[in-house]
Amino acid sequence: MTDTALAGASPDQAAPGRTKRPASRPAAKPHGQWKVDGTAPLNANETWKQEDNGLNVRERIESVYAKHGFDSIDGTDLHGRFRWWGLYTQRKPGIDGGKTATLEPHELEDKYFMLRVRIDGGALTTEQLRVIGQISVDFARDSADLTDRQNIQLHWIRVEDVPEIWRRLESVELSTTEACGDVPRVILGSPVAGIAKDEIIDPTPLIHELAERFIGDPELANLPRKFKTAITGHPSQDVVHEINDVALVGLVHPELGIGYDLWVGGALSTNPMLGKRLGAFVRPDQAADVWLGVTSIFRDYGYRRMRTKARLKFLLADWGPVKFRQVLEDEYLGYKLDDGPAAPKPSTPGDHIGVHEQKDGKFFIGATPIAGRLSGSQLVKLADTLEARGSQRLRTTPHQKLVVLDVPGDQVEPLVAELDALGLSARPSVFRRGTIACTGIEYCKLAIVETKLTAATAVAELERRLADLVETEQLPQALSLHINGCPNSCARIQTADIGLKGMMLPTPDGDPTPGFQVHLGGGLASDSREEAGLGRTVRGLKVTADDLPDYVERVVRKFVADHTEGQTFAE
Ligand code: SF4
Repeated sequence: MTDTALAGASPDQAAPGRTKRPASRPAAKPHGQWKVDGTAPLNANETWKQEDNGLNVRERIESVYAKHGFDSIDGTDLHGRFRWWGLYTQRKPGIDGGKTATLEPHELEDKYFMLRVRIDGGALTTEQLRVIGQISVDFARDSADLTDRQNIQLHWIRVEDVPEIWRRLESVELSTTEACGDVPRVILGSPVAGIAKDEIIDPTPLIHELAERFIGDPELANLPRKFKTAITGHPSQDVVHEINDVALVGLVHPELGIGYDLWVGGALSTNPMLGKRLGAFVRPDQAADVWLGVTSIFRDYGYRRMRTKARLKFLLADWGPVKFRQVLEDEYLGYKLDDGPAAPKPSTPGDHIGVHEQKDGKFFIGATPIAGRLSGSQLVKLADTLEARGSQRLRTTPHQKLVVLDVPGDQVEPLVAELDALGLSARPSVFRRGTIACTGIEYCKLAIVETKLTAATAVAELERRLADLVETEQLPQALSLHINGCPNSCARIQTADIGLKGMMLPTPDGDPTPGFQVHLGGGLASDSREEAGLGRTVRGLKVTADDLPDYVERVVRKFVADHTEGQTFAE
């Protein structure tokens, strides 16, 4: 069997040693793999993606839609290709979550957009931060959320303002290119790349190379679904690599030196799977080729028939890591990769909260808002504040936090106080530190419940109610609380100690009320867990949004009462 035939074998085909399927059985439907089944589109999305690449919509936005307004936008552009430039229509205010599943999409949709600013590696200068903040003030009703993929999201954007927003972003080398859509999304990168004392390898040159060579490349702009990348060289493994389509994790090979451990096929959503190691050691000079190879496998062999089965994780689940690596090496790289060990388990948290010394003797400060919520004015003030204290660089993180870089030692404490006044705590409570929330019903058309305010209320309530445990130093060191507005998993509910999936819950009087299905016991390497794992749904364990603080308080008090010496909450 040729390599190509091996690579293209459908999971429905008989494997060697297995009984062949009876001839009378109907042939399995094609998966829509381009290299196996041909490129004829098998669903409406694949049809319009082939008819006109999503990247091409930019020209129409600038020359037609921005001039003639929302009602002039072609439907396929609006609900499809706009994403290739980071634009989604947002939810009309005031629509109850119970109606999300019953209304038509156009009934849920407002004439405003969410705009996602792509920040590869989370790396920002204060000048760039100020530009984003001012765009928010001028065009986005002062909205600005840090996402858990290192982007900044603005809301209330009018299509008329998009060209000017792009002009301002691009004047400081920022963009919204492929911030959404079936493309290589923002590249997660270690927020302490290049500055941490204990860094194994600085991934910054690699992230720059990937962004410059491949983002906006039409050859990679029609993938079966979204494609997520994470790269870190920090021992805390701070980029949630287990839930990305492709990830490179820095390590020292005992014989070959510094390089990366290759992971493939992680993703959450409604069918969560953790990524798998291919057992391959990637030298720094091989890393860009390996990334391109994995992305190209997804483009060429990914399943395109059903969008619910199109993520890379489904291909990996069928092929397995051995075959995936073989196809990568034989068909895409043209050489074998060396075998390599796993990176050692992290021993420090990957959220980088607090004050830490850099390798050059300056300091970095990790600080958190509540559940990623900020405003444009805050971003502008933050840029001014950092510059006044001698810093001109910062990073967003995959934990909805910020890391300020290059702070001189004598400026640390004044800056910590000023950050606090701006709503960014460098010494947060365990609740504030561990809570993240997705966009939720405020703006998201798929949402069933509110999330950001629910998170803020829960954090404030828990800080007040559990003050006695703070005083007696009995609180767990870490506790992650992740809140989603619907069954999708934008806030990674399956990877939290307590993950909450938004849903409407029945009440005794018959009126459904917003609430959550509870997942317990998930976590990733960056949470300092011994073993990454997905949380489990506890059957029947649901909590209303109003009762959420009560529920978490009970769980924490039970942990404090029952835990053994040294046991973490995750255990
Ligand atoms: Fe929207 Fe659901 Fe994602 Fe939250 S989890 S942002 S509600 S799609």
